[in-house]
Amino acid sequence: MRHAFLILTLTAAVAAESTALAADKELNLYSARHYQTDEALYNNFTQQTGIKINRIEAKEDELLERIKNEGAMSPADVFITVDAARLAKADELGLFAPLQSKVIEERIPAHLRSKDWAAFSTRARVIVFNKATMKAEDVKNYEDLAQPKLKGQVCMRSGAHPYNLSLLASMIAHHGEKKAEEWAKGVVANFARTPKGGDTDQIKAVAAGECGVTISNSYYLARLMRSGKPDDRKVVEAIGIVWPNQATTGVHINISGGGILKTAPNKEAAKKFLDYLASDEAQRYFADGNNEWPAATNVKTDNPALAALGSFKADTLPIIELAKNAALAQKIYDRVGWK
Ligand code: FE
Repeated sequence: MRHAFLILTLTAAVAAESTALAADKELNLYSARHYQTDEALYNNFTQQTGIKINRIEAKEDELLERIKNEGAMSPADVFITVDAARLAKADELGLFAPLQSKVIEERIPAHLRSKDWAAFSTRARVIVFNKATMKAEDVKNYEDLAQPKLKGQVCMRSGAHPYNLSLLASMIAHHGEKKAEEWAKGVVANFARTPKGGDTDQIKAVAAGECGVTISNSYYLARLMRSGKPDDRKVVEAIGIVWPNQATTGVHINISGGGILKTAPNKEAAKKFLDYLASDEAQRYFADGNNEWPAATNVKTDNPALAALGSFKADTLPIIELAKNAALAQKIYDRVGWK
């Protein structure tokens, strides 16, 4: 009697499990991407699959905390964020399930993924200078920003921000800790002001002549280039853009990406969603909507600003290396006073 009951319960559990798989009609997406244009990307997925997306948006680190605190009971299926180091942190905490997707393996280059997460878009960290006060030849490489002749000319956002942590992490990987620290120290000595604001604020400060040069993520530039606002037009007219390190390591690349959570209640839907993000169609949303580059290869895009920015040599350092060096990068910024 007891046995029969047990078997019945197990059968019921298996049946419940398989209906859950078949009926994954919902997806709980924890996203730290804060771009309005992503709306269309998600709606398109729902139209194609009938899977409704419940989106929880918050700051990157808050989302990670939340998933951690929710533990085994977390409703989160997919975690999407920007910056490789943040994805790696989620991975270190053991939050991700292995990706196991043929689609992603085929479409996303190996240096842009790990076994548990993948990049879906890339962005480049480019040099932006004031055309009236500076020449492109003077700021061809990241290393140039540390030259004493640029004293009082450099505007930067905080060193604690992942964009700058990853940039320094790439330098540690390429040149070692000592050279990376020398660079950071040299840049700090050239600061025009104490670090404040985001990338767009730095670009505007360069355009206004408050400083001569800065570093910015490419999509902020493309956004300004596509803007019809007269103030933004003036900013774009005043600045020049350099693809750094074209004769050496290539321009530093970072990513936005995601993975499936180990505790995901809707694993099938989660897998479908990540495969969708790697599709041509979704890749075009990243490019045409948010001015990023597709992580998948050979995707045709239609974005006048990206076309105007042209082609460039990108750093092919495995993105996972950035995550490995992020903590050391923070220590270096602390040591040299890049707040
Ligand atoms: Fe950003």
